[in-house]
Amino acid sequence: MIVSSSLDEVKKREKALFIIKDLIENKGRSALFDLTGLSGGFIASPSQISLLETYVGPAIFEQELQEVGIEHMGGEKVIPLNRTSSGILATILTLVSKGSNVVHYLAELPAHPSIPRSCNLVGANYFETDVFDEFSIPEGTSLVVVTGSTMDHKVIDEDEFRKVIEMAHERNIPVMVDDASGARLRTVVFNQPKACDLGADIAITSTDKLMPGPRGGLMAGREDLIDEIKVKVNQFGLEAQPPAVLAMVNGIKHFDEDNLINSFSRKDELFGLLSEKFDNFETTPTGVMISPEGLADEISVEHYLSDKDVAFVFSFILLKDYGIITIPAVSMPGASATIRFDLSTNDAFNLDLNDLCKKIESSFNKLQEVVINEDECREIVF
Ligand SMILES: *Cc1c(COP(=O)(O)O)cnc(C)c1O
Repeated sequence: MIVSSSLDEVKKREKALFIIKDLIENKGRSALFDLTGLSGGFIASPSQISLLETYVGPAIFEQELQEVGIEHMGGEKVIPLNRTSSGILATILTLVSKGSNVVHYLAELPAHPSIPRSCNLVGANYFETDVFDEFSIPEGTSLVVVTGSTMDHKVIDEDEFRKVIEMAHERNIPVMVDDASGARLRTVVFNQPKACDLGADIAITSTDKLMPGPRGGLMAGREDLIDEIKVKVNQFGLEAQPPAVLAMVNGIKHFDEDNLINSFSRKDELFGLLSEKFDNFETTPTGVMISPEGLADEISVEHYLSDKDVAFVFSFILLKDYGIITIPAVSMPGASATIRFDLSTNDAFNLDLNDLCKKIESSFNKLQEVVINEDECREIVF
């Protein structure tokens, strides 16, 4: 095993960031292609930046966020958060009591780890399923959770979404929607209504997923619940700070639905090109992906690397040789090692897909050459 612990993952991330810095300094930003779909951004003008004082900043930008945030998410009131995970934690701290049940329905397991971890922290019993017929709400349930679009961009069926909300509301149980990427993917690409318009009591989105905003969370929903949750948010320091709030406002204003719709159609072209050479690529709503198992299966030489290690080495070759950023090289410990090429963010707009396909193919050929030599692979990753 090359990457076998969280410490190894921290080290490989440091190496990836070092390669990125080196590319920027020697070849400029145009030599990099961030295809993670999480390329975020920080849009702000000098006059806005000059207002970023501890109390002046929130006075100006939180007011503005109320308007643009409600337009983006629906609901009666919004709160800006440090991350989506912070919003999930604050909601569970507020609404879920020890010993009560939390039930979660999503299109495909696994759930984001912040949901079970937060339930565990308050001592609640947590159940999740991706089989609609197996979903039920037991006695003593304090919160129903729905994920709008999973980490791998599997989107919930709208009828099932409506039914889960109806089942919860028949029993007066609040519904929290984890709509990290779903707030845009579901609504723009799948034409579904906003979670709050479907009746969700609380919905949370991630402001750097499929939009040009900073890493952060934006929660919207019923004003009475938002006010209660806001108390916990402030007590535990989970709120977004003024610079992030400013960038959220501008990120939402610059969110362009056409970019998502274009990537939705372009991904089929990329998938077609890649499928001439590979068997195991799959489409996502806004790009293509290959799992570690799928990638390892493509390799025709004998070697002793784990499937995940093969994915890490591939991600590093893409980065080092072609400046293509994919999640496994740069991710935090515990993230998925799936290689995703997302076409919905800036760097992908002007990319020639034939050229991208050639780069992927040539990186794969290099992977086949080095995979037999574990020491060389270790050097590539660390
Ligand atoms: C990314 C993601 C999260 C967490 O977002 P953070 O901002 O990293 O906390 C939660 N749920 C889903 C479905 C996600 O895709």
